[in-house]
Amino acid sequence: MSRRRNGPPVHPRARWPSRGSEPVAGQVAPSRAASLLAAMAVPKQKQARSRTRKRRAQHKAATPAFNQCPQCHSPRRPHRVCPTCGFYAGREVVAPSPDAEE
Ligand SMILES: [Zn+2]
Repeated sequence: MSRRRNGPPVHPRARWPSRGSEPVAGQVAPSRAASLLAAMAVPKQKQARSRTRKRRAQHKAATPAFNQCPQCHSPRRPHRVCPTCGFYAGREVVAPSPDAEE
């Protein structure tokens, strides 16, 4: 975290606008700097690799849920039309696919 003398903390990756947009080279008006700071949430500390990796250790693909179709009793994803019989909520909503029916 870099800190300007007598000023608020500034994010190390914060970039000032391009030189042409401001009349003074490398300087931004205080009101503009305040608005830049207000717009961004700045982490107080670096997050260790260990912490990041512990968090990401939980990122994994979930096993897809299956239950039984009440019409034809074949396995089917919940809240989806049965691919075997084409039924949903007790009525046929799509024609059953010929390759799924054996
Ligand atoms: Zn079914």
